[in-house]
Amino acid sequence: MKKLLTDIHNHSTFSHDGVSDLKDMLATALEKGVAFYGVSEHFDYDLCEGLQSEHGQIDERGYFHAARHLQEDYAGCMNVLVGAEFGYSDDQKVWGRYATVCEKYAPDFIVNSIHSLDGWDYFSQKAFYTTGANGERITRDEKEVFAEYCKLVERSLDAPYPYDIVGHFGYACRYFPSKKGEIFYADFADEIDGVLKKIIAKDKILEVNASTYGLKQLTLPSEAILRRYFELGGRKISYASDAHQTTSIMREREKIMELLKRMGFTYLTVPCRGEHIKVEI
Ligand SMILES: [Zn+2]
Ligand SMILES: [Zn+2]
Repeated sequence: MKKLLTDIHNHSTFSHDGVSDLKDMLATALEKGVAFYGVSEHFDYDLCEGLQSEHGQIDERGYFHAARHLQEDYAGCMNVLVGAEFGYSDDQKVWGRYATVCEKYAPDFIVNSIHSLDGWDYFSQKAFYTTGANGERITRDEKEVFAEYCKLVERSLDAPYPYDIVGHFGYACRYFPSKKGEIFYADFADEIDGVLKKIIAKDKILEVNASTYGLKQLTLPSEAILRRYFELGGRKISYASDAHQTTSIMREREKIMELLKRMGFTYLTVPCRGEHIKVEI
């Protein structure tokens, strides 16, 4: 087992919210000494049609074509993994679209993430409100919304398409209207344990995501959830800067590795075409 730098989950302008060009992202990653760099552009087929047309959808062919060429260019200097981030939905039609992407382009790895509820991204905060009898807006209990989110994550683990990584578990708490910016393990012990135990049973990888805007924590999921995962026997984790621009590649990596080591983790897991590669922390 070797000690190598990894960053498995990044975006470029092929994603609707990407800022830097894929070529620039790769050049920066190489400059920073990354050995395994995962490209995981957004495939947001979970979003409602209105949001999909507002964002503009990914050019599937263009992306895989360009990324595979760059992967060849970097062979021998940096392992570029050409993957995707799928936004999970309970809708079977969405599953079909993701299965087709897998068949057509055989991505090197897939991050399966929850971004939305009923087609609306948590970012839109629609999940946090409901409409009363007189059309008035009622704020929902954040605990109820988060428990519901955990159940959705649990269902996403049964997605019928091949995926490797469970993306940014805890994401919904980024957008709490109270801006509380954190959730407490004890408040959702049963729901969180349900997710963690299933990740372990299914031999999936729990992502440690460094993109924590608005949160009072270094990682997503939080330290308490990562500790619980370790306690339950979970060992497969990946590091993700979830960068959308060159300056965010490898963000907070050293600090996060220190934290993981203190918890007892000794290695990261890199998924590549169904294989799980162990890399020393
Ligand atoms: Zn995501
Ligand atoms: Zn992402």
